[in-house]
Amino acid sequence: MAIERTFSIIKPDATARNLTGAINAIIEKAGLRIVAQKRIQMTRGQAETFYAVHKARPFFGELVDFMISGPVVVQVLQGEGAIQKYRDVMGATDPAKAAEGTIRKAHAQSIGENSVHGSDAAETAAIEIAQFFSGNEIVG
Ligand code: ATP
Ligand code: MG
Repeated sequence: MAIERTFSIIKPDATARNLTGAINAIIEKAGLRIVAQKRIQMTRGQAETFYAVHKARPFFGELVDFMISGPVVVQVLQGEGAIQKYRDVMGATDPAKAAEGTIRKAHAQSIGENSVHGSDAAETAAIEIAQFFSGNEIVG
């Protein structure tokens, strides 16, 4: 399997509970390398652009409000099959349906406040990484 990069966000519910280190430990234990990372306060415009695919969904406003409700940690993760691997490590969107050992099972509070984001495909990973990082900020 090829070495890939994926985009991750540690969401405001997790940063508020000081879970950045605990989540990073799960990521690294899974064999994913954190090759870029920064803590930012997202603007409303950034959050709307980031989740534009969900614009028509009834939870869009709530989702954007949540994503700007506090700091987030944006990351680039690298490893073999990183995109699917991180989706597996995150667990299902709804923590009630997430498998044991996943980040969302351990830490998510609800389907909305679910602690982490991970890209769902190679195309979206490239777009999402480019929204938040320049090439020289990523060191593999
Ligand atoms: P993410 O894109 O954040 O990695 P995901 O791919 O598991 O999550 P999506 O279907 O892309 O899930 O939804 C994006 C985000 O929107 C979810 O992570 C969650 O924060 C929020 N969301 C999804 N469904 C709901 C819902 N029914 N009610 C409230 N918020 C929701
Ligand atoms: Mg998604």
